[in-house]
Amino acid sequence: MTDKNNPRPRRLRFEIFRYNPEDPESKPHIETFEIDERPYMTLYMALSEIRETLDASLQFDFACRSAICGSCGMLVNGRPALGCRTLTADLPEEIRLHPLPAFKLIGDLSVDTGIWFREMAERTEAWIHEQLPFDPDAEEQRMSDDIAAAIYEGDRCIECGCCVASCGVANVNPEFLAGAGLNRIARFMMDPRDGRTDADWFEVVAGDQGVFGCVGMMACADVCPKELPLLDVYAYLRRRTLGTKIASG
Ligand code: SF4
Ligand code: SF4
Repeated sequence: MTDKNNPRPRRLRFEIFRYNPEDPESKPHIETFEIDERPYMTLYMALSEIRETLDASLQFDFACRSAICGSCGMLVNGRPALGCRTLTADLPEEIRLHPLPAFKLIGDLSVDTGIWFREMAERTEAWIHEQLPFDPDAEEQRMSDDIAAAIYEGDRCIECGCCVASCGVANVNPEFLAGAGLNRIARFMMDPRDGRTDADWFEVVAGDQGVFGCVGMMACADVCPKELPLLDVYAYLRRRTLGTKIASG
């Protein structure tokens, strides 16, 4: 934390994971960089300063800088977080940065979350399964305000991958859908336009890859930067899935 009684800027010491998997000469190691802290400095600002003034080869991802694009997830002192919304003032002077686990490493702090999310979306068919042929003249389908609000809540996920990286199950089982995948499934299960039956959903969400593989320690909810109600999502999925099982005997 910044010492409010001491107006001098802190000297921040960054210990950053470095590795280029494309370079056979590269070995995973930690490099240390020091910079002065500035008011309202975020990790995005600090890493940009390190890259501009100390090491132009440092790899990390940022795009929107406002917690919308989901590209700047990283381990900050061992905890998944977005670099753009993490203030250095909320961290000690020594800051350890690693790439998110569970995703393909591109280099240093940069990972490819897109591979994981694309595979998850294809496996769960994360799109509306319409029952009727498309009619451009048809009126838009209506839904209740409550359902619309619940779907909107699920759609707030920015696919940052922090929940996946925090999840012990997802780290040992690449098939596990984790917070982001389970949230995505619930979003389509709630949607009245999606014609999949409970029996169809049972195949997608039951089992070790789905909600029954979750051990329920809620690390995912603790780290989600959008504070999605993942606890409610898992309860909803369990209710729907168990209801299907009981109904089918
Ligand atoms: S509660 Fe479930 S999905 Fe969340 S981190 Fe734990 S095992 Fe993973
Ligand atoms: S559920 Fe939260 S932590 Fe997980 S990908 Fe979406 S926004 Fe990120």
